[in-house]
Amino acid sequence: MTIKRDYYEVLGVARDASTTRIKAAYRKLALKYHPDRNPGDKEAEEKFKEAAEAYNVLSDPQKRQIYDQYGHQGLEGQGFSGFGGFEDIFSSFSDIFEDFFGFGSRNHSGSRARRGSDLRYDLTLEFLDAAFGVETEIEVEKYSTCPSCQGSQCAPGAQPETCPQCRGAGQVGRSQGFFTIRTTCPQCRGQGRVITRPCEECGGAGRIMVTKKVSVKIPAGVDSGSRLRLAGEGEAGSYGGPPGDLYVFIHVKPHEFFMRDENNVVCKVPISFVQAALGDEISVPTLEGETKVKIPRGTQPGDVVSLPGQGIVSLRNGRRGDQIIQFTVKTPTNLTKKQEALLKEFARLEEKKLSTKLKNFLKAGVSRAAH
Ligand SMILES: [Zn+2]
Ligand SMILES: [Zn+2]
Repeated sequence: MTIKRDYYEVLGVARDASTTRIKAAYRKLALKYHPDRNPGDKEAEEKFKEAAEAYNVLSDPQKRQIYDQYGHQGLEGQGFSGFGGFEDIFSSFSDIFEDFFGFGSRNHSGSRARRGSDLRYDLTLEFLDAAFGVETEIEVEKYSTCPSCQGSQCAPGAQPETCPQCRGAGQVGRSQGFFTIRTTCPQCRGQGRVITRPCEECGGAGRIMVTKKVSVKIPAGVDSGSRLRLAGEGEAGSYGGPPGDLYVFIHVKPHEFFMRDENNVVCKVPISFVQAALGDEISVPTLEGETKVKIPRGTQPGDVVSLPGQGIVSLRNGRRGDQIIQFTVKTPTNLTKKQEALLKEFARLEEKKLSTKLKNFLKAGVSRAAH
């Protein structure tokens, strides 16, 4: 079980802080640790959730009283268990986040204001763009507030009228014996108003399908599976509700030479067996261009050399990983007569060295056995 921090401590407020003060403190933390500003940062994510939980409790007089009296355990007894994820937080505090982040202007005329849907966009990036970050433009198809009626659903000059069937109540009653059963009004479907002259542009829907260009700033170091959230770039809400968010899911194309391992970049460099045996200096591609690298004398297949700080930027702490060069040793083919003769001579010398070694070993074994 994890030990929860004190909610007042989390928000950095006194135990007798006013609701206004608590809201201001939470606002500051929510902005600081907002997932948009800290994409992929697990620590910020935790802080963001922690602050939301603290605010949820301390902004509610009843919950606050229970907490003041009985602490975290008191709330657990009431079935309060914090938030599962961002979705939870954003939907619980949608009004606060609108205040904070300036979502589209709110319109309180309809009580059935509904937030627009979130959208998903899959974005495939080149390996180097993911490594260094890039600014790109994507085209998103989505429902947007109708520009002709501004979402009012009515034709120019027309206004919604009170529903004649329910007289604006949204419900109709039907007597059945002693009871009156109330059901949603069939004419206005619970809206309490009807639109007699709908907007022609959107057919009275208040929203139209548009293709919108959205510019996206991809931070350096994203990887396949990274997710960016663009607040308010989802679909338009209905009845004055705020728009949803756009989630950009990142996919990174493989590179012909580099492979990513966490924040390190791994590359395989083939060398000849002569270079492996005698050592050499060669040019190796890096993310930024190329660099000279020493092959140590006596390199074995699979041996590695690291170039510190030549890898990928960590989304978490901004530090760069390393480039790791792994040597593969090529066996020569298509030898000339002369090369073959030289190799045979090499092998003869190597065999002599080996057989001397073997003889010594056997001799040692025989003498051990004799004792
Ligand atoms: Zn319209
Ligand atoms: Zn009605």
